[in-house]
Amino acid sequence: MAYDFDLFVIGAGSGGVRAARFAAGFGAKVAVAESRYLGGTCVNVGCVPKKLLVYGAHVADELEQAAGFGWTLEEGHFDLGTLIANKNREIERLNGIYRNLLVNSGVTLLTGHARITAANEVEVEGQRYSAANILIATGGWPQVPDIPGKELAITSNEAFYLKDLPRRVLVVGGGYIAVEFAGIFQGLGAATTLLYRGDLFLRGFDGSVRTHLKEELEKRGMDLQFNADIQRIDKLDDGSLKATLKDGRELVADCVFYATGRRPMLDNLGLENTGVELDERGFIRVDEQYQTTAPSILAIGDVIGRVQLTPVALAEGMAVARRLFKPEQYRPVDYQNIPTAVFSQPPIGTVGLTEEQALQAGHKVQIFESRFRAMKLTLTDIQEKTLMKLVVDAETDKVLGCHMVGPDAGEIIQGLGIALKAGATKLQFDETIGVHPTAAEEFVTMRTVTR
Ligand code: FAD
Ligand code: NDP
Repeated sequence: MAYDFDLFVIGAGSGGVRAARFAAGFGAKVAVAESRYLGGTCVNVGCVPKKLLVYGAHVADELEQAAGFGWTLEEGHFDLGTLIANKNREIERLNGIYRNLLVNSGVTLLTGHARITAANEVEVEGQRYSAANILIATGGWPQVPDIPGKELAITSNEAFYLKDLPRRVLVVGGGYIAVEFAGIFQGLGAATTLLYRGDLFLRGFDGSVRTHLKEELEKRGMDLQFNADIQRIDKLDDGSLKATLKDGRELVADCVFYATGRRPMLDNLGLENTGVELDERGFIRVDEQYQTTAPSILAIGDVIGRVQLTPVALAEGMAVARRLFKPEQYRPVDYQNIPTAVFSQPPIGTVGLTEEQALQAGHKVQIFESRFRAMKLTLTDIQEKTLMKLVVDAETDKVLGCHMVGPDAGEIIQGLGIALKAGATKLQFDETIGVHPTAAEEFVTMRTVTR
């Protein structure tokens, strides 16, 4: 049977755009439907605007450090409206770039909500299209627990469009988004409290990293409340919000920001018309080649709930395009040693196994750990410490994990990701000449086993 398209992609986010562009480049007839914004979460309400806000918040650090370098500055004033307007202009520019990328690669771009009506059929704005393959790349959406007053809270979606900087902010959650936005609000000047339901935030990250970041955030004056959870939120007469905690305490703020994870975006997607099954967490179930339980339907990115990061969605999109239309170039995505950064203040960079994971996997480990005050701070009164840590297999000498908390951690960890992928040993780290004077050279000069 002749179909309208070889591949119909639902969602023009990180994964969808990558799959569509490359499939079209391999000669396939491709359509993409996008209901909201070109570039998806990452470009519009994720990585990109987040990083711009992080830069904005980081200016406060630079201003604080300036005096040590001889600069006398008049008292600064921050205007959120200007930052948001400039950020919006940049995002619009990127939206245009994404449009051109798709159109110039020969992809048919359809604007509107897409609904799957049959195994090989998708409806957009009342028009039905047939396709040999349908790729679901619809991403995720913030999830707020069902508590009284939840409608008074905001999520990352709204935080990117705030008109004024709230004076007092309660950030709820202990994952990437909570930690990053707590740093943004605090850096921009809001009195910030971070509430997390467990003992220590960033579950799954290396223990030294979690503790170190906690200490650094406390030094910066952030109010960290662990083992704390909100039971209800009420609006007070003066417009502020009262959060009543499960332990009975009451906290008052001008903004309650929830970052308690993201659900797959499956709204009105028409999965009931397909054989697509969900896993126990509600994400789309796929095999190792992103095939759903319906033979003509694939899924990638946040909607499969595997690793919710843009570079992973890109790699999955590429793998699908190759498998379908250039099988001789197909390579499975390697989920080992994915480097990642948390753009907190100070930021985290990490790749490979944590100390806890290495021990649990049965490795006999050697830990190399270093804490030092970055050179840049020596002319200032700021007492922030940088943490660097290597987790090494004591038997094979292979470096299993690299972890850092400190300036430019995300930039530094990318290169170490290559080293780990190449299977580097501690001896090879030691034999690598450092770049002097940098913080990064510490990763190749740690000689003493900490434990
Ligand atoms: P998305 O990018 O979410 O794209 C899905 C697209 O599908 C959207 O445009 C949506 O409008 C569209 N869509 C949904 N349903 C339909 C439908 N039925 N019809 C038509 N279109 C539809 N990752 C990093 O690697 N680094 C970071 O620094 C980072 N920061 C982040 C910060 C925040 C605040 C958030 C929320 C996420 C961040 N992420 C980051 C994660 C990253 O944004 C996601 O992993 C990535 O965007 C997932 O890509 P995707 O293609 O699966 O989905
Ligand atoms: P995460 O899954 O990272 O974290 C969710 C947090 O909310 C956890 O601390 C979790 O606690 C807590 N939580 C979950 N449910 C509840 C609840 N009902 N009540 C109270 N707390 C709750 O999600 P995020 O929303 O922070 O981010 C989503 C994903 O987006 C990330 O996992 C990451 O993959 C990606 N991302 C990547 C970034 C980057 O690369 N820099 C930046 C931002 C996002 P617990 O640990 O106890 O389960």
